[in-house]
Amino acid sequence: MAGIYLHIPFCKQRCNYCDFYKETSLQHTDRFTEALITELRLRANYLNGASVHTIYFGGGTPSVLSGDQFQRIFRVLFDRYAITEDAEITLEANPDDLTPAYLTMLTGLPFNRLSMGIQSFSDTELKAVNRRHTARQALEAVKDARQAGFQNISIDLIYGLPGQSFEQWMQNLQYAFELEPEHISAYGLTYEEGTGLWKQRARGLVRETPDEVMLKMYRYMLLQMSSKGYEAYEISNFALPGFRSKHNSAYWDLTPYLGAGPSAHSYDGSSRQWNISNLMRYMEGVEKEMLAFERELLSERDAYNDYVMVRLRTRAGIGYSEIVERFGPEMLSWCKLQAERYIQTGHLQLTAKGIQLTLEGIEISNSIIADLMKTD
Ligand code: SF4
Repeated sequence: MAGIYLHIPFCKQRCNYCDFYKETSLQHTDRFTEALITELRLRANYLNGASVHTIYFGGGTPSVLSGDQFQRIFRVLFDRYAITEDAEITLEANPDDLTPAYLTMLTGLPFNRLSMGIQSFSDTELKAVNRRHTARQALEAVKDARQAGFQNISIDLIYGLPGQSFEQWMQNLQYAFELEPEHISAYGLTYEEGTGLWKQRARGLVRETPDEVMLKMYRYMLLQMSSKGYEAYEISNFALPGFRSKHNSAYWDLTPYLGAGPSAHSYDGSSRQWNISNLMRYMEGVEKEMLAFERELLSERDAYNDYVMVRLRTRAGIGYSEIVERFGPEMLSWCKLQAERYIQTGHLQLTAKGIQLTLEGIEISNSIIADLMKTD
């Protein structure tokens, strides 16, 4: 099994918290599309013919591409890769791109899942982080997507937005549940170095939401998700039964994936590689059939650390026999030794297969993950 991730590096506007690679000029979307197609051709053997059960168009904002551009990309995907019949094919989209006409166009393409970057249902909060859509556009986009026939919709939310009170977060969740999306991803706002938001905070123009309020927001969300039937299958991801994201799950299972487009990462089970984060140099390289990327071979320790990092965030947690199979008995001894004190303090709990975070553990998950990793 394998996955494909396509990075579409264009955004009409820069959200001030975002540190993903993107360009705000849409001038080169067609040249980029051709480069992406060429890269997919050049790297057709990367997955060794493995069946592809998830394709994810992320970004950036993939919903800036046209129907013709998507068709050309799909042609090479289905020509050169072993896409399974039931593959999950997701388009990440901005609500204001999802007009009824655009949605109708999408229904003629192989997409079967939409992931909408809604983030908030408050125009004040959306403006504070320079999102380009309004709350009304978000509500309409979900309804229009339903009418167009999409039966698997995920929405992204952010809590701890500048100026957002606990009550406003409660309200945002209420709006979200009323839309009945099959999947919700909800992340606490982080201030990434170099972003506009980071600079605003440094100048005293915004104040970070206090940790205790963030915690209260998260705890409230967990209760609400559970009461509405959403399974918390990862710290920040919630799904109705049968609607876990295959794309996310493959990533957490360390399934090989091909990442195409500038800045996209790939993983083949023993190495990671990442394309250059520069659109021009990416396109020029691909056009000369000399892809600009860096590669890192993973040692057993790196692979174990990756496993701990992604797996401990999931509901399933870490599997002891899986650690032995993948990394050997010594790594299991290390993992158990490090986990012991967190089991004693109630931050980790034993499962039938290994260990998982408790609610208290989720709140300090970064420290626990760091301690379970092997550093020497
Ligand atoms: S639309 Fe997405 S990728 Fe683009 S700037 Fe906003 S958060 Fe970043």
